[in-house]
Formats: sequence, structure tokens, C-alpha cells
Amino acid sequence: MDCIFCKIVSGEFGTEFVTQNEHAVAFKDINPQAKVHILVVPRDHTSNVSELDSADSLLGLFELIREVAKEQTDGQFRLQFNTGSREGQSVFHTHAHVLSAQSN
Ligand code: 5GP
Ligand code: ZN
Repeated sequence: MDCIFCKIVSGEFGTEFVTQNEHAVAFKDINPQAKVHILVVPRDHTSNVSELDSADSLLGLFELIREVAKEQTDGQFRLQFNTGSREGQSVFHTHAHVLSAQSN
């Protein structure tokens, strides 16, 4: 499968991770839409958040989202999962956008 986020997760592109855990990795969006714009991405491939049905994956993903929000923002942020091309999804590997106007 030719999935850009699978390649980032595997380290193929040498992308620097802001933080990571057993289930997910976090890295800066290449085209930031806010002062802080970090993508939090499950290590295992699913196409979108509605396919994430493992309790372990969901917990691991949200633990990392909380860590990113706490460490990288001032506590005010937006959390967005674009799902489906009509709703703005362009990379079909599940990812959360953490966006904030103020870094920590
Ligand atoms: P979506 O539009 O699917 O919700 O979000 C995909 C996001 O991935 C976009 O904000 C886009 O800028 C980002 N993105 C796409 N390719 C890369 C890449 O190779 N590296 C990084 N860091 N971000 C990427
Ligand atoms: Zn993938």
C-alpha cells in the first residue's frame, strides 16, 4: 500500500516526531494552518477515525493527543478529524489535527 503516513510512521522519510507512544506518533504538519499545527497519527493503518475500533488504539491515540495539547499549546486548541474527501480529508490514514493560536 502506498500510504504517505505509513511511510512517515515507519521512519522512511526521517520525519522528526514531536512525541510518540506505543500506538501513535505526532509530527508537525508540513503546511501549518495555525501557530501550532501537529498531526497525531496511529501507527497502524486505518483510513479514517470511524474505522478505529480497537480500545487500545483509541486510548493510545487520545493519550498522545492530550500530551501534545498539554506540551505544545497553552491549553486552548482545536482537535479535528477530517473524514472523507468532501469533508476535507486528503490523506487516507487516520490522523487528528491539533491546532492552536498559541504555543506553550
Ligand atoms: P487532511 O487534509 O487529510 O485532514 O490532512 C492531511 C494533512 O497532512 C494536511 O494538513 C497536510 O498539510 C499534511 N501532510 C501531507 N503530507 C505531509 C507530509 O509529507 N509531511 C507532513 N508533516 N505533513 C503532511
Ligand atoms: Zn497508512
